This record gives sequence, C-alpha cells and structure tokens, in this order.
Amino acid sequence: MRIARFSLDGNVAFGVVEGDDATDAGPVLDIIKGHPFAEFERSGQKLPMDKVRLLPPVLPNKVVAVGRNYAEHARELGHEVPEARDAPIVFFKPSTSVCGPGDPIGYPSFSSEVHYEAELAVVIGRMCKDVPRERVKDVVLGYTCGNDVTARDVQRAESQWARAKGFDTSCPLGPWVETELDASDLGLMCTVNGEQRQLGRTSEMIRSVEDLVVHISEAMTLLPGDVILTGTPAGVGPLHDGDEVAVTIEGIGTLTNKVVKRD
Ligand code: MG
Repeated sequence: MRIARFSLDGNVAFGVVEGDDATDAGPVLDIIKGHPFAEFERSGQKLPMDKVRLLPPVLPNKVVAVGRNYAEHARELGHEVPEARDAPIVFFKPSTSVCGPGDPIGYPSFSSEVHYEAELAVVIGRMCKDVPRERVKDVVLGYTCGNDVTARDVQRAESQWARAKGFDTSCPLGPWVETELDASDLGLMCTVNGEQRQLGRTSEMIRSVEDLVVHISEAMTLLPGDVILTGTPAGVGPLHDGDEVAVTIEGIGTLTNKVVKRD
C-alpha cells in the first residue's frame, strides 16, 4: 500500500494511492480516516492526485542518517571502506531540513558545492527502543525515497556535519510511503536534469536496514514518523541553480525537486 500525505484547500490529510500514471484516469487518493500509524479506515472519498499538493509523507521528530554505507561511495570520497563489524557513522538531520516532493531545494548561501545523495528512507511506524533484529519488521511502517542533500565543502571544513547536512530543505522525502516492500535488494537511481548520476542496489549496503534499526534503537527511542536514511551509492556530485534532481527507487516511485539559489 502506498500512503501519501497531501494538502487540498489548506486541509492536510493522508490518503492511499490507487492506480498509477499508466492508467487512463491517473492515480487517485482514497482519503484515510485518522492517521497511518494506527488501524485506519479508508473513507472511500477519492481525489485525483493531480488536484492535490503532495507533502513530505511524514513529519519526522528526527531523521537519523548513516554515512558511508556503500563501499564504492566511501572510496569515491577517499575514505577507507568500513567493515560490517565497524560502528556505522550516525548523524542527525533536523526536522526543519525536511521538504516534500516538488518542493524547492534552497541552495545555502554559505556553500558553493552542494551535492545530491539518493537514499532509501526507512519510515518508523511505532514507538520503539532496543529493537531486536527479529522485530524490526514490526516497527517499520514502510519506505520512501530520500535525498541527503549535502554542502560538501562545509562537510569537509567542519568537524560536525550539522550545518553541512542540516540546512533547511536538505532532506527531501517522498513521494509516499510504500508499506509492502522487501527493501533488501531494490534498485536506486539519481538523475539530474534527466541524466543518470547514481545507480545502485540496496543489497550493496554495508549494513542492512535491520542492522541500522538495531544499532540506532540501542541508543535512542524511535517515534512514529521518524526516518532513517540508509546511505548513498557511488556517483555523488554537484547541483546547480535550476537543476532538477530526481531519486527513483524500485517499488516505491520518484522524488523530484528543483534547486533554487536565492542571491
Ligand atoms: Mg548520505
């Protein structure tokens, strides 16, 4: 099931996505009564997708992100490739960095080298702590596309990545949460202005979704709507004013955003 969050005439709601662009009528949203983190009913009231504005599919309390989780990407940045037994690099992106499908990515004034990073985003469905490996599937609501937009020059210059990876709009998420998906071997791709820049598979991750949920929840309580960004494959590179960046993940869909530089 695909669950989207949207606004129409100032009202915000969740809806189940039915159909796709391949069908004559185009996709529609069946409005959900309540919210997707508990048992919910579909209202049967359906809206054409092109009549609404899609929002970030969740509003996370926190986005926990993981660095260097694909060997080729660690190599391209000149780092040693971490081993599965090494502790992963874990960092936060603030809730204010989140934006939705179609939202502009604001090029920050303090950087001149902003990169895209296509990533599988795990959406947590229930409050949890110290999650055992066999229970990970019970706490994951589903998956969406993420872009860990990074001011690479600032990341190099500053020992903590809070500004480099935490500026406003540096965490596009969407277009919806896919709740029925085996995320262990999905293709993911990033294009800029239609040109392919990144191509990888989630099976190349050094640490799996299960590893990451176990590791992160050992330290902190995860809340419904929290997001874990699982790292990016090789091929990262710069974005420029006016670029259209798209993250596509097999079985989920495509998250598209345009870069806007304000002088
Ligand atoms: Mg990243």
